[in-house]
Amino acid sequence: MTDRRGLLIILSSPSGAGKSTLARRLRDWDPSIEFSVSATTRAPRDGEVDGRDYFFVEEAAFKRQVGHGEMLEHAHVFGNFYGSPRGPVEVAINAGKDVLFDIDWQGAQQLQNSPLNLHTLSIFLLPPSIRELKRRLESRAKDTSETIQRRMEKSWDEISHWGGYDYVLVNEDLSETEERLKAIITAARLRRSQQPGLNAHVRALQTEFEEGLS
Ligand code: GDP
Ligand code: ADP
Repeated sequence: MTDRRGLLIILSSPSGAGKSTLARRLRDWDPSIEFSVSATTRAPRDGEVDGRDYFFVEEAAFKRQVGHGEMLEHAHVFGNFYGSPRGPVEVAINAGKDVLFDIDWQGAQQLQNSPLNLHTLSIFLLPPSIRELKRRLESRAKDTSETIQRRMEKSWDEISHWGGYDYVLVNEDLSETEERLKAIITAARLRRSQQPGLNAHVRALQTEFEEGLS
C-alpha cells in the first residue's frame, strides 16, 4: 500500500552483538528499507566507505550541524560524536519508506521521545553471554585490543537500557534472530495506525456491501 506511513526502526545493542550484520540482512530482505547513514567524528575502519557506512566528519562540522538543527538525534559514544542527519530521514518517511537506525540508547530515547510525533519501532539485541560478545568483537578483527577493551567496558552501560525498547532479541543463532526481526517488522507494518489507506478500503467495502444488499 503506497500511503503507508514510514516507520523509524531502531536497532541498538552493545557493540559486537550483531546490529550491522542484521541490518545488512534486512537490506537484502527488503531493499525498500532505507538506512539512516549516521555522521560520526570517529576515524573510518578498514573497508568503511564515506557516505555508505558513515559520513566521516570533523568535530567542528558535526557541532555546526547540530547547532543548525540538522541532526534528528545525536550522542557522544566511545569518545566520539554520532548523529542521524535529519534531511534524508524526512524525505524517506514522507515517501512512506521505513528507515533503519543503528544507534545507541541515547539516540533511541531521543527519537522515541521526539516532539515530531514519529512512528518508532525499537528493538534491542542482547548477546547470549558476555564471553560470546567479546569473542565476536575479537573475531570481527577490525579494532585494536584497546578499543575492544573499551567497548567491552561500555557494554554494560548499553545493556542496562534494554528495558526502554519495544522488543528484545537474544542474538544467539543468527538466522533465527533474522527471522524474528523480520516478523517484528512485518507485524509493526500491519498496525492499524500504520495503514491510513485502510479507511478508503473499508469505505469501498461499505459501498459494495450496501449495493449488494439493495
Ligand atoms: P559498532 O558498535 O561496531 O557499530 O561501532 P561504531 O563505532 O560504528 O558505533 C558505536 C556506537 O555508536 C554503536 O552503539 C552505534 O549504535 C552508535 N551509533 C552509530 N551511529 C549513531 C548515531 O547516529 N546516533 C547515535 N545516538 N548512536 C549512533
Ligand atoms: P555490531 O554492529 O552490533 O557492533 P556486528 O554485526 O559487527 O556487531 O557483529 C560482530 C561480529 O559478530 C561480526 O563478526 C559478526 O559476523 C558476528 N556475529 C553477529 N551475529 C552473530 C551470531 N548470531 N552468531 C555468531 N556471530 C555473530
